[in-house]
Amino acid sequence: MPQIYDAALLRRELHEMPELAMQEVKTSAYVLEKLQALGIEAHRIGDTTGVLGIIRGTEPGPVMMLRADMDALPFTIDGKDCAIHACGHDGHTAMLLAAASRLVGRVKRGTLKLLFQPAEEKIIGAPAMIKEGVIDDVDLILGAHIRPIQDVPAGKLCAGVRHTASSTAFVTVKGRGAHASRPHLGVNSIDLACEIVNAVQAIWLDPRAIWSMKATQFHADSGATNTVPDNARITYDIRTETNELMAEIQEKMKAAVENTARAFGGEATIEFPEYCPAAVYDEDFRQEVADTIVECFGADKLVGDCGGGGEDFHFYKLHKPSMKAAYFGVGVGAEPGLHAATMHFDDTLLSMGVDVFEKMVLKHLG
Ligand SMILES: [Zn+2]
Ligand SMILES: [Zn+2]
Repeated sequence: MPQIYDAALLRRELHEMPELAMQEVKTSAYVLEKLQALGIEAHRIGDTTGVLGIIRGTEPGPVMMLRADMDALPFTIDGKDCAIHACGHDGHTAMLLAAASRLVGRVKRGTLKLLFQPAEEKIIGAPAMIKEGVIDDVDLILGAHIRPIQDVPAGKLCAGVRHTASSTAFVTVKGRGAHASRPHLGVNSIDLACEIVNAVQAIWLDPRAIWSMKATQFHADSGATNTVPDNARITYDIRTETNELMAEIQEKMKAAVENTARAFGGEATIEFPEYCPAAVYDEDFRQEVADTIVECFGADKLVGDCGGGGEDFHFYKLHKPSMKAAYFGVGVGAEPGLHAATMHFDDTLLSMGVDVFEKMVLKHLG
């Protein structure tokens, strides 16, 4: 009899070894050992902490990938830096290992790839995996995340988590310094930056869509109380429902920032160095997940799609649009919310996510 893993028990072990992004050394060793104990072909991905497990069928068929993330979040508690699994990635790793244990010997067609991805929280894990070529041959990719109690009730699931695109913008404002008694000889970078904040606030996109841009940092200081400052910095956090809206917002912000500064005799530039794409799902594949949830647990356990937050999972689809992608949410009663140091949830409900993974794989590869 092949060994069947209990996701709740694995999660409790993983919870005791939280590791930060790209430092998931113990976690990846644990995953490798658990996969190899099942007789599954598995290896570390390049020189990253990612792990890939492969179960091959004997007949031709598609390549399907299940993906979990493994990293914990940094916190400072009582003055001490530490890592805590506050986003439930311990639960995701456990769900995928449990699904793997149920699928040994049951993949008939095609290939099942089990991806244990590092560094989701820093949105650098998925791009690193893409660079290593892990999705090059993949036709279908399926991921999941536990949901906070506010999104999905405990014991229920949603077929699609509608993550928004997110981007950080850094605005650099240049004015001209002057003695505070002669402000007319300078260009006050604080005045410029305030006008820029107002100009950006006046940008509108389609109000039926979900979008926001808000200033999150504002710095200006000449070093003296009696000197007009010559520079300022503003940071923005931007969220949009689609990647198209993100492109539109970035273009409009660039015009507002540059032109506003120029109107008052200064200069300003804007950069968008951090970006995470929005969820793009294939409706037929997402519907299959919804049907699977209903088949496994009944129609009353399926709730509408939830949203919010970002996920580097969406780099996969962005990189390979021909690949079908879906990503469901598992209501495990996570409280008070994801990314809270005290986040806790009912890990016995992880088995629902395992059921969905198992059944989805058998539909395509069984
Ligand atoms: Zn997170
Ligand atoms: Zn997460």
